[in-house]
Amino acid sequence: MYHDVVEGDAYDASGFAGADAALYKLGREEFEAHLSAIAARAVGRPVTVEEFGGGAVGARPLLLTFDDGGVSAYTHAAPALERRGWRGHFFVTTGRVGAPAFLSREQIKELDGRGHVVGSHSATHPARMARCGYDEMLREWRTSAEVLSDITGRAVTAASVPGGYYSRRVAEAANEAGYRHLFTSEPRAGLHRVGDCLVIGRYTVQRWTTPQVAAAIAAGRLAPRLRQAVLWNAKKATKAVGGEFYLRARKALIGGG
Ligand SMILES: [Zn+2]
Repeated sequence: MYHDVVEGDAYDASGFAGADAALYKLGREEFEAHLSAIAARAVGRPVTVEEFGGGAVGARPLLLTFDDGGVSAYTHAAPALERRGWRGHFFVTTGRVGAPAFLSREQIKELDGRGHVVGSHSATHPARMARCGYDEMLREWRTSAEVLSDITGRAVTAASVPGGYYSRRVAEAANEAGYRHLFTSEPRAGLHRVGDCLVIGRYTVQRWTTPQVAAAIAAGRLAPRLRQAVLWNAKKATKAVGGEFYLRARKALIGGG
């Protein structure tokens, strides 16, 4: 899972602004180094969910995804992939289409025409998708699908969960909205289905992720994937413990439930 690719340290030039978002953005040269390392080490070329769905891509397909819908999908990431004959998945926050630093309708249409998979990253990028009510989740998935299929002229069947806030309900809503591939931020290679929707984990690339680590993950090496899984689960556990502490503190303060 990649996000934006920028020139130098112009992190706000593409995608969401701010220091938190910048943690996931790579410089252009760094991104090129990632792709070279992946090309050197991965077992096969990266494929798309469309090929993946056909079942003819081998046991360990490699998929490259780009979240948020920043303009660098068009200006940097897609051209770099295409120079190698590769295609990616670009997940667009549809409420930002045409906004400064984000993709325009024309650019989205062109990416689709050039063989990339254009998918939804929700309509508004809610801070905590898994905390939204079911109707709100459904609205996020449906509205974004409508915007994208209006642009590309085809059904939108792939999506990624904003902020990595995944829950089974998030997948149920995506399934009901007609998506067939939902990418999470859960660092796992195993797949599962929720209804007709295939739920696919991802490994996150951050600014300090080296090309060697990205390539090792792409090659299916266990150590870097385990490291991400351990960190991810520790983060989740901290949240859960924090939540429980909050509930206990609240109970102590106001009494009862
Ligand atoms: Zn995002």
